[in-house]
Amino acid sequence: MSTRQNIFILIIGLLLVVSCTKGKKEFPITELEYPDYVKIVKRADWGWLPLEKGKAEAPITKITIHHGGVEFTADKDPVKSIQSLQKWSRAEKEWIDIPYHFMIDLTGIIYEARPINYPGDTNTEYDPTGHALIEIMGNYEVQKFSKVQQQSLVELITFLCDEFSVPLSEIKTHKDYSEKTLCPGKDVYKYFQDSSIVKRVETKLNELK
Ligand SMILES: [Zn+2]
Repeated sequence: MSTRQNIFILIIGLLLVVSCTKGKKEFPITELEYPDYVKIVKRADWGWLPLEKGKAEAPITKITIHHGGVEFTADKDPVKSIQSLQKWSRAEKEWIDIPYHFMIDLTGIIYEARPINYPGDTNTEYDPTGHALIEIMGNYEVQKFSKVQQQSLVELITFLCDEFSVPLSEIKTHKDYSEKTLCPGKDVYKYFQDSSIVKRVETKLNELK
C-alpha cells in the first residue's frame, strides 16, 4: 500500500471516531443544591459513571424509604458497595442506574445516586414514578437503625420536602406500597409506624420558615 493510501485510510478512521463520539447521546441531569444541614457525597465524588441511557423524566411528588435488604457491616467500604450496585443495576437489571436516588451508609453519610429527574426502579409491583427513593444501606430486619442514620434521614427528607413541596402525608416506606416486601425492615419501619421520623421532619421544616 502506498503512503498516500495509508494516509487516506487514517483520515477515514479519524473521521469515523469523531462522528461516533459526536453521536454519543447526553442525558440531562437535574443537579440539586443542598443546604449546609445535609451531609452529602455528590455523584462526582464517589466515581458515579455517566448515564448510558435515559428514560422519561418525572417531577417528585412523594418520598419513599427503603433498606438494602442485605446486611451491611462496618468493615465494608460503602463507596465500593455503591459502585458495584451501579454496575449490577445496569448490567444485570438493565436499569438506567442504581434504582434509588439517595443512599445512606452506617455512619449517616448520604450519597447521591440516580439523578432525581429520572424515576427509580423496583423489583416489586408498585410504580415508583414521582417518588424520591432513599435507601438505607443494610438489612433492618436484623440490624439496628442508628441515631446518626435517623438524623441524616430526617435532614434529607426535610430538604426534599422543602425542595419539591412534598406534603408530610406523602412520606412513606416501600412496605406501604407493596405487601410482598419487608422493606425497609422492622427497625426502620417502627419509626414510621409511630410517625416519629415524620414529626421530626415537620419540626425541622418549621425551623426553616
Ligand atoms: Zn424497598
